[in-house]
Amino acid sequence: MNKIRNRSLIVWFIVIAFIGGMIYFSINLIIHADVWASKPQNAHLGTDGMGEAGVITDRNGNTLAYSENGTRYYNSDESIRCSLLHTIGDEGRNIGGAVQNVYRSELSGFSFIFGLGLPDGLTFGRNIQLTVDSELSKTAYEALGDNKGAVFVYNYKTGEIIAKVSAPTYDPANIPAIDDDEAYEGVYVDRSINATYPPGSTFKLVTSAAALENMSISELENRTYNCTGSDTIGGNTITCYETHGEESFKEALAHSCNCYFAQLAVDLGADKMTEQANKMGFNKSVSIGSIDTASSKYDVSEADQNELGWSGVGQYTDLASPMTMAIISGAIANGGTPTLPYLVSQVSLPFGIPTIPQGGKSGSQMLSSENASILSDMMRYTVENEYNGGGFNGEICAKTGTAEVGEGKSAHAWVTGFSRDESCPLAFAVIVEHGDSGYLAALPVAAEVMNKALQIYSE
Ligand SMILES: [Zn+2]
Repeated sequence: MNKIRNRSLIVWFIVIAFIGGMIYFSINLIIHADVWASKPQNAHLGTDGMGEAGVITDRNGNTLAYSENGTRYYNSDESIRCSLLHTIGDEGRNIGGAVQNVYRSELSGFSFIFGLGLPDGLTFGRNIQLTVDSELSKTAYEALGDNKGAVFVYNYKTGEIIAKVSAPTYDPANIPAIDDDEAYEGVYVDRSINATYPPGSTFKLVTSAAALENMSISELENRTYNCTGSDTIGGNTITCYETHGEESFKEALAHSCNCYFAQLAVDLGADKMTEQANKMGFNKSVSIGSIDTASSKYDVSEADQNELGWSGVGQYTDLASPMTMAIISGAIANGGTPTLPYLVSQVSLPFGIPTIPQGGKSGSQMLSSENASILSDMMRYTVENEYNGGGFNGEICAKTGTAEVGEGKSAHAWVTGFSRDESCPLAFAVIVEHGDSGYLAALPVAAEVMNKALQIYSE
């Protein structure tokens, strides 16, 4: 009896000692981590020293970056390196949201408990697995060509970011002279998450959602409008690119009729428009794990009625990041509630013990599931009837946009949408800066990317 009691006492002592040790270590890490990171003698944390950092892999385990004998190496394919620059980063700290910057401490291992205080050579970093697909990222990079712009693709069911590509970019293994070269203007900005643009007609999805959420479907179906190419709304002119004639709600979205949607925004009013924009991710900062992203903006507090009309078609002072538009599409695809995107799927020790994988968290509801289904069908109708299938091989729902950016400058080209294929549940947004036409410049990029994704997911 006594023997058993003694043995269980010993077990309890070990357990308590272990827990106590862990708590001590954790506190020590929290207190000392920053101090340790800034010590200049800690060579593997300098701006140029990722020489002992852990391995970064893509969702399929392909190596994207690793270190050997004090040198950092990247994937052997130059297009993959360029496509993932803004996601992985180089060894400097120029790209704010890059994994090698944000997760530098995990990668270089300074916060790793056995690495604390050990001499160089005995420390080792953790490995990071990302949710991205390097082949799809390469396709997105190549589809953008010489344009400036971005592609954001994510799984709207799980939240995994599959491709996050920004252009211009450069090769982290062969860094060019960037200063004062116009081709590299804004090269350090990840345009997919940290740049905002006028959303143009892609914003008609938000105005449509506001109408569906606040008007009855019969009221919307009975609402007809005769577009003559321009109209006086709120005391001033709203113009369309062409004359659309008599049209229903569904047809007006497919035609992308400015006059119809400007009138709809004015009829809904500033409060309801603002409420719906806020529900759909505007005026709110969103982060991807530890990575900050730019807030999209919708503010009609100072707008007159005509400006409110323009705000309903994605002009006025509206601004959106590609990620915001992709999440809106993802929510429409996912029954009205988005799964929020994430990028780091696993942080593990070199000998293979994984941490608990981060999952995609559910965001707050953007619209009812009935209205999401109606809007999904309207986007599918748009692709079939207005874009002639859009070059997509699968059942894709989409909305293009051509966003005016001031006189004398060509417009930004947008498209956002999603696949209704259960085996390839991806939502996307593409922007081509000064592409002049969403249909001509952004839609073909999305088609190339989504066709490649459909191919990858069917394998
Ligand atoms: Zn029109």
